[in-house]
Amino acid sequence: MEYRTFGAARRALDQNETTCEALVSACLDRIRADNDRLNIFTYVDDGGALHHARYLDSMREKGHERPLTGLILAVKDNICIKGRQVTCGSQMLDDFESLYDATVIEKLRDAGAIFIGKTNCDEFAMGSSNETSHHGPTKNPHDDAYVPGGSSGGSAAAVAAGMCHAALGSDTGGSIRQPAAFCGVVGLKPTYGRVSRYGLVAYASSLDVIGPMGHSVEDVATLLNAIAGVDPNDATSAPVEVPDYTAALDGGVTGLRIGLPTEYFAEGLDDGIRALIQEKVDALEAEGAEVREVSLPHTKYGVATYYILATAEASSNLARYDGIRYGHRADLQDVQRSLVEERETMQEALAAAEADGRDDRVTALRQEIDEQETLLNRLYTQSRTEGFGDEVKRRIMLGTYVLSSGYYDAYYAKAQRVRTLIRNDFDQVFEEVDVLLTPATPTPAFKLGEKIGDPLAMYLNDIYTVTANLAGVPGLVVPIGTHPDAPHLPVGLQLLGRHFDEAHLLQVGDAVMNL
Ligand code: GLN
Repeated sequence: MEYRTFGAARRALDQNETTCEALVSACLDRIRADNDRLNIFTYVDDGGALHHARYLDSMREKGHERPLTGLILAVKDNICIKGRQVTCGSQMLDDFESLYDATVIEKLRDAGAIFIGKTNCDEFAMGSSNETSHHGPTKNPHDDAYVPGGSSGGSAAAVAAGMCHAALGSDTGGSIRQPAAFCGVVGLKPTYGRVSRYGLVAYASSLDVIGPMGHSVEDVATLLNAIAGVDPNDATSAPVEVPDYTAALDGGVTGLRIGLPTEYFAEGLDDGIRALIQEKVDALEAEGAEVREVSLPHTKYGVATYYILATAEASSNLARYDGIRYGHRADLQDVQRSLVEERETMQEALAAAEADGRDDRVTALRQEIDEQETLLNRLYTQSRTEGFGDEVKRRIMLGTYVLSSGYYDAYYAKAQRVRTLIRNDFDQVFEEVDVLLTPATPTPAFKLGEKIGDPLAMYLNDIYTVTANLAGVPGLVVPIGTHPDAPHLPVGLQLLGRHFDEAHLLQVGDAVMNL
């Protein structure tokens, strides 16, 4: 694509070197060329995007420009666009259409953005590789034998493959930042409450955030300008003033205090990633940043805490998919037939037991018959059995377990307390430094199939990202080159900041990319 960033496209539009329609066509060409191989989009809105582009072009002719006129945006398939599918990568929502626009969509459309399609993701955003999607895995555009990361892998891959200028993802435990690192793009998880969650299909509501992904920090800042702010439709969105995030970009790093948390550079970090990060740290110091080591002592509990709290919240959020209120419904007649057959079998067994005079068996069978599931309950069970994939089922079971009476205190309540400790770690460290600098992931992208059979190995991949969600602080990932031993695989660097201080992250992120 000729104009990879929105910044470049925008300048070309200003010079009348291109049109919105031409920008959309270029993206559609890229999609046509590679989407079958990479499985990035679950839905491409060619008609809608071209139509909107022509409208914006006609407005431009009349002198009407909006801040995002000409931005071609891909949207993760768990964010609602009215009248469009929102499958969340699940069979459960395979034929579900959104009845309303998410707040971010409304804001972006008003600002002139063009939506080109919905991107593949792990089922209900649960995963780190895009392999749990009912639509099949997305592949990494840098090497299609590798995963793009997850769960916003489709969005990261769409940006990396030049199929759009930028994309929206969601981040509950790293789902914007980890795929950004694996695909070599910029990804921002804003502070919890910075961006409205209205219209984002809920996974774990106390951790979920929508955020932008793009090729440049400037594009990500421009997008954040458009989507940030309080929203009456989301009680957890924060009434905190929204600065102009692009204004911060040229600030440089002189005098800025950057902390390197020891726990993020401990055992388990890939040597190549460590070396690349060290190079950037040295360069930042040479530019005048003050770098020091700091400690976030509760980091080691991050993954365990996250997987207790996220699954607990998920088990409750996903209760709505029962085939009646929402989602895939099993065939009612099949369900009814199976109940009737079951009952007949039990009754035959009862008659035989009665004939044989086996009293215990008679009592047991009578009880079974009495307690046979109702049609409604069996319909729920069957719909959920058919609609959800294995990983989602695993999480619902884990979450239900940690919330069950008898285990609640040992798991859920304890995890909440650890969450507070993790948050306190960040509060304390941000008294000493302005920004934290860490690796985004312990390894570069892994091969398709490499971890999908080992949930624990998959979960451990989130070690550097889940803490930001637990603490609610913002996190930015920027690409810093390719891996020394695997030059086809990108490496990302993560910056973490104080609540609502995205500006500093963007400032340092931009500086890192310009080093
Ligand atoms: N990989 C993490 C998980 O599976 C994070 C997912 C996310 O941020 N949505 O829960």
